[in-house]
Amino acid sequence: MSKKMNIPFSPPDITQAEIDAVVDVLKSGWLTTGPVTKDFEVKLAQFCKTARVATMNSATAAMEMTLRLLDIGPGDEVITSAYTYTASASVIAHVGAKIVLVDTTPDSLEMDYDALEAAITDKTKAIIPVDIAGVMCDYDKIFEVAESKKDLYHPKAGTLQEHFDRVVILSDSAHSLGAQRNGKMAGAYADFSCFSFHAVKNLTTAEGGAVTWQSIPGVDDEEIYNHFMRLILHGQTKDALSKNKAGAWEYDIVAPYFKANLTDIHAALGREQLKRYPALIARRHEIIAKYNAGFAGEDFITPVHKAENAASSGHLYLLRVKDFTLEERNELIKRVAEKGIATNVHYKPLPLLTAYHDLGFEMADYPNAYQQYINEITLPLHTLLTDEEVDFIIETIQTEVAKMR
Ligand SMILES: *Cc1c(COP(=O)(O)O)cnc(C)c1O
Repeated sequence: MSKKMNIPFSPPDITQAEIDAVVDVLKSGWLTTGPVTKDFEVKLAQFCKTARVATMNSATAAMEMTLRLLDIGPGDEVITSAYTYTASASVIAHVGAKIVLVDTTPDSLEMDYDALEAAITDKTKAIIPVDIAGVMCDYDKIFEVAESKKDLYHPKAGTLQEHFDRVVILSDSAHSLGAQRNGKMAGAYADFSCFSFHAVKNLTTAEGGAVTWQSIPGVDDEEIYNHFMRLILHGQTKDALSKNKAGAWEYDIVAPYFKANLTDIHAALGREQLKRYPALIARRHEIIAKYNAGFAGEDFITPVHKAENAASSGHLYLLRVKDFTLEERNELIKRVAEKGIATNVHYKPLPLLTAYHDLGFEMADYPNAYQQYINEITLPLHTLLTDEEVDFIIETIQTEVAKMR
């Protein structure tokens, strides 16, 4: 009988240190947003080399609240990639703005920057580039595109939009915590960057997210932070911990806002993960190097996680099988599953999903995204993988693809 293993796609890497940290919070007498969350924010800002971080209960909330912070809403347009997870686009719908999707280039998962330039109108308020797989986008180019269209930018009076003289760059950095480009960490490049700590992401709090930003001339970072805190806690002027102090009961509600705060239980898990995070990224890059060597040659297109001036966070390994059709790719996923290897596809382009199709997006208008999707297979990439398992994955895929040729 041929060999079989049991290799999950992306299990959480939790040690006793994370378990102890969570138990400490459970015993501390304070469970929701409090001192541990605030300290996790400080540690994240140090890690990203930014002034301030605001944590939330998801990256989706972080992106939506950033759009709200900027007063982006009905009548406005926001551009993102057709090749991403729904959250990059759904947040645009949440605030009532119009979703504009841009195709990728034929051979990268970044937006086609000429198409991006052409998509900017006098209604465009923001661009949401996506750091797919933890590889940072070419933000220099994105800023250049935004600058080139600054004549079209019409900020809404009396809002934060007025502090920008071009469309705002809001990075979907859900995958890229710890990535670097030109000496800057993810988070220190775009105007705003939103990270995810969902259970399958590189660093997890089970569910969670964060936003960080570049300081805006004339705007106090503390004011931005406080605005985010009101947005995610009902518009309340005091957080639960301050209100809980003896005699400090009174508060006001400044607007009927939302509920999306991170708890100390989750933050304790994340803060502990952050201590190990540089080592976890290093291990991910070891596995990527093994995969890239194993799939070198004619049959595959391997992803680029390291370049002269850049290193990804090593979040996902997106392998492409040259000339495979959609049916062949799906067959390959089935065959490797029979050998006990769980794989995935990142991503089914948005126009293929009912919600976006119903909004009028047609797959035929995004041919590059479609071509990349049909022959893509995402391999297990996580810090519980052994070298033996990585070798088995390479061998199995090589064998099955050869059989299918
Ligand atoms: C996971 C993910 C999100 C959403 O993150 P949540 O924390 O679950 O809201 C957004 N964008 C991309 C590309 C993702 O992979």
